[in-house]
Amino acid sequence: MNSSATTFTAYRSSILHFTESPNAQGEGVEYFQDGVLILADGKVHQLGNSQDLLPQVADLGASLVEFPDSLIMPGFIDSHVHYPQVDVIGCFGEQLLDWLNNYTFPAEMRFAQREYADAAAALFLQQLLAGGTTTAMVYCTVHPQSVEAFFTASQALNTCMIAGKVLMDRNAPQALQDTAQSGYEQSQQLIDGWHNQGRQKYVVTPRFAPTSTPEQMRLAGKLLADNPGVYMQTHLSENTAELAWVRDLFPDNKHYLDVYDKFGLLGPTSVFGHGIHLSEEEWQRLADTGSGIAFCPTSNLFLGSGLFDLATARQHGVSVSLATDVGAGTSLCQLVTLNEAYKVAQLRGLALHPYEAFYWLTLGNAKALMLDDTIGNFEAGKTADFIVLNSSSVPLVDYRVQQCKTLWEKLFVMMTLGDDRLIQHTYIAGQQAYSA
Ligand SMILES: [Zn+2]
Repeated sequence: MNSSATTFTAYRSSILHFTESPNAQGEGVEYFQDGVLILADGKVHQLGNSQDLLPQVADLGASLVEFPDSLIMPGFIDSHVHYPQVDVIGCFGEQLLDWLNNYTFPAEMRFAQREYADAAAALFLQQLLAGGTTTAMVYCTVHPQSVEAFFTASQALNTCMIAGKVLMDRNAPQALQDTAQSGYEQSQQLIDGWHNQGRQKYVVTPRFAPTSTPEQMRLAGKLLADNPGVYMQTHLSENTAELAWVRDLFPDNKHYLDVYDKFGLLGPTSVFGHGIHLSEEEWQRLADTGSGIAFCPTSNLFLGSGLFDLATARQHGVSVSLATDVGAGTSLCQLVTLNEAYKVAQLRGLALHPYEAFYWLTLGNAKALMLDDTIGNFEAGKTADFIVLNSSSVPLVDYRVQQCKTLWEKLFVMMTLGDDRLIQHTYIAGQQAYSA
């Protein structure tokens, strides 16, 4: 590398990241009370103690930005969120199927208009960044222009986003339906236009089994088979009325997951939202195929869907990522999601350690989405997507943090009492993209 052509920047603060899945003793946790993160052209160059690295900052001619009393971490990752549903957060309305019909489907119809989708995508991405999230796996609507709008806005910010057009050819309002063939063709066009363009990645997105015909699901499987590296996302086993409906629609399948399995939709790049009411056989099949579950605690509580069983997922070795699922989820901020994840896990007999929790939002979710080669921690060469948290921005958090003796106690206060008010700055590939 010709260093004269490289732009170096450095940030001084407390710095936390994870090198592997941590244990309560702190293995896998790397923390610098007075740390320096040096970037080269938006990528991580070096991380260490300020004592060791400040001479090098001077040698490199790097500009130095100091954030006293703050904490730098890798940006959060959200593995399941619907950008068009920012319009329906906090709509009162019973359980999943009523909520879809009464609020969500009418809201998604507006995305037929490109200008509407453009404005919504810009607002959504700004809200993600304000909550500390720098990467997400995103549902658009059935309209290809909703995906064009989203990727165009993400590309302009240089954020790493995984998004896809919803496939839905039955059991939904006519205005929100494609056909098996048009959904297939539009998806392939979007893959050709956007997958691996800059930091954008495509995800084949059948909404869930009830809203796709067998032919549409077969073609979704074909899209995956024809386009290696493209992701798949859908919903699975969220609500008991939904389970009964799936049994009626697919009487020949042995369980809900089997519907997706028969069409070739399982695998390491597949992320199933929820997975609350799974049988032993389904857990095993998820594990055997390397398929992942997105755990969406605020959504599961809001819609009364049930309590995700994290302990059982771990026993089976199933990859679980953590997600907001806005608009049924009630916050785009992953700190709030952690707060609720902790409580749901408690009710299922598992206490989530704060090291595990923050690992989850960063390197854990990066691994679950197979993005850990480029993001998730501050290993040299990774893209510098990071956030600056400041607990003094919320008086009660500040008061409690000052009483804590250990790092993990402070982190636990931040995930229990914290929200987007803690996020001071969000950087994308070394560029400031949000400031409070
Ligand atoms: Zn969802």
